[in-house]
Amino acid sequence: MASEKESALAAVPSDSPTIFDKIINKEIPANIVYEDDKVLAFRDINPQAPTHILIIPKVKDGLSGISKAEEKHCEILGRLLYTAKLVAKQLGLEEGFRLVINDGPSGCQSVYHLHIHLLGGRQMNWPPG
Ligand code: AMP
Repeated sequence: MASEKESALAAVPSDSPTIFDKIINKEIPANIVYEDDKVLAFRDINPQAPTHILIIPKVKDGLSGISKAEEKHCEILGRLLYTAKLVAKQLGLEEGFRLVINDGPSGCQSVYHLHIHLLGGRQMNWPPG
């Protein structure tokens, strides 16, 4: 299996549908921990911490990554962050957690549908790799 870095370097930045659209449309299974009309949160298939959740907008609207954000996206961006807080509480991450957004090849992004990583359940280190 390719490393995250290899996957990221092989990924082609694009606005095309991704595997996350299939998860949103329930065409492939995912371990969903939160869902509302605008946001979906599910467990990462390759967890980097005891708790590793991806939080995504259901409608991509050009947000292949955070670098594509425009002012019209401010509401959904705020909602994604607030959902991260809700899910962290729901999953009992009282001692703390980390939110990550990878962007572009150098940022190690492999799926071009904006997502926030919610990581918790272990002590984090700094700086990240
Ligand atoms: P990034 O590298 O920031 O683009 O993150 C993409 C994440 O999506 C990686 O952590 C992958 O493990 C995760 N991922 C890819 N496919 C799936 C899937 N089918 N279900 C859950 N997580 C996935």
